[in-house]
Amino acid sequence: MITVSDVTDPNRCVHCDSPVSGHEWHPAVGQSDDDGRFTVYVFCDEGCLHDWKRTTDNDRDDR
Ligand SMILES: [Zn+2]
Repeated sequence: MITVSDVTDPNRCVHCDSPVSGHEWHPAVGQSDDDGRFTVYVFCDEGCLHDWKRTTDNDRDDR
């Protein structure tokens, strides 16, 4: 379980770049990149989370 408090800079939505308040709960996803570093992505709402997930899934399926 990932919380916004784990994020270094939780002030921007990864998907639409809207300001995100650190005082409220927001959807967040953690992923390891190719270097093995763990990055947490924060979203302003679940709509952005779903759109971002769909985009990354499409990238992965593009072969
Ligand atoms: Zn957003």
